[in-house]
Amino acid sequence: MNTRLNGDGVGAHSRPYQICTNCIMDTSDSSIVFDENGRCDYCANYYNNILPNWQPNEIGMARIMKVIENIKKDTKGQTHECIIGISGGLDSSYVAYVAKEIFGLNPLLYHVDAGWNSDISTNNIQKIVDGLGLELYTDVINWNEMKDLQRAFIKSGSPDIDTPQDLVFFSSLYNFAVKNGYKYILTGGNFSTECVREPLEWGAYYQTDMRYVRDIHNRFGERKLKTFPTCDIFKYKILYRVLHGVRVVKPLDYLPFYKEEATRLLEDKFGWQRYQHKHHESRFTRFYESFWLPRKFGFDKRKNHLSSLILTGQLSREAALERVSRPELPEDELQKEFEFVAKKLDFTVEELHRHFEGPNKTYRDFKNNAKLVALGTKVMQLLGLEKRAFK
Ligand SMILES: [Zn+2]
Repeated sequence: MNTRLNGDGVGAHSRPYQICTNCIMDTSDSSIVFDENGRCDYCANYYNNILPNWQPNEIGMARIMKVIENIKKDTKGQTHECIIGISGGLDSSYVAYVAKEIFGLNPLLYHVDAGWNSDISTNNIQKIVDGLGLELYTDVINWNEMKDLQRAFIKSGSPDIDTPQDLVFFSSLYNFAVKNGYKYILTGGNFSTECVREPLEWGAYYQTDMRYVRDIHNRFGERKLKTFPTCDIFKYKILYRVLHGVRVVKPLDYLPFYKEEATRLLEDKFGWQRYQHKHHESRFTRFYESFWLPRKFGFDKRKNHLSSLILTGQLSREAALERVSRPELPEDELQKEFEFVAKKLDFTVEELHRHFEGPNKTYRDFKNNAKLVALGTKVMQLLGLEKRAFK
């Protein structure tokens, strides 16, 4: 078993190590830029672009209530005014609470079971459904197809091995909404816990670039994807938005949303259970972010998650540094998870280990639409529709 330590310097870059003096992003992001005070470009983006436009207060609340009133008018007579994709994680659970209890909406909760739900997440979804008296619709993904695409990504050497899950969550929700005539999608996307977005190279390449997904599957897949839901980024951005008028609303940016307070509220009101870390509602994502990505590639997503909390005043830089100085899970648990993931994906432990030790690739090694997507993002930023920095 590999014994490389978590983190810094494992990535293939030759820059001297440097860490931001304000957050904890560092040169494990090969494209990070520092100013003369040692502050990084993520911090600059936060202070210059996000903060001035972010109003999680009465002003924001007044703005979002207008949007909600329009949604209510526009959907008069419908049982559900909107749809919310729920994973059992904090952000989506909290947005369900806000929709029902603060906005007075009756959203349809929509869940995708891709085979990796943790017990806590399944429980949390039920607690939210029962506690708020909402209706839940669950789509179960064909496991053999899911498994084949996940195996293909692992065999490819790409860091984006969580793309199959991201793709299926995203595509299922949007396809379901369009098919069933839902115009409004409320998401838990927010600046408060996500204002520092990991760079694309950290296994965060666009999950809806179907040219990339298809190339990896064509090369490493073993069965046809007949029912696997997909939604190409252009279909989503152009067809769904323009033609079908699908609107995405992110309510959590308009009201105070703090991780600890929100967690406590869900615990107290619904018996919801907290996770050790963001994205741990999926057992695969937990393994990917706490083992595969940091140890194979040197990318630790806790750095951007915790930097978001630092910038928004929810965590001290010292506490964040302490947290990333050690692995997120105990070594014996990581070994057990390695065996669990291998078995579930029909790899022997030795096979999965061989892929783990295999050459590291990036999305650039495969067919992709990166240039086209970058152009689209640039246009969105110029139009003021995208505030986060993608790079
Ligand atoms: Zn910084």
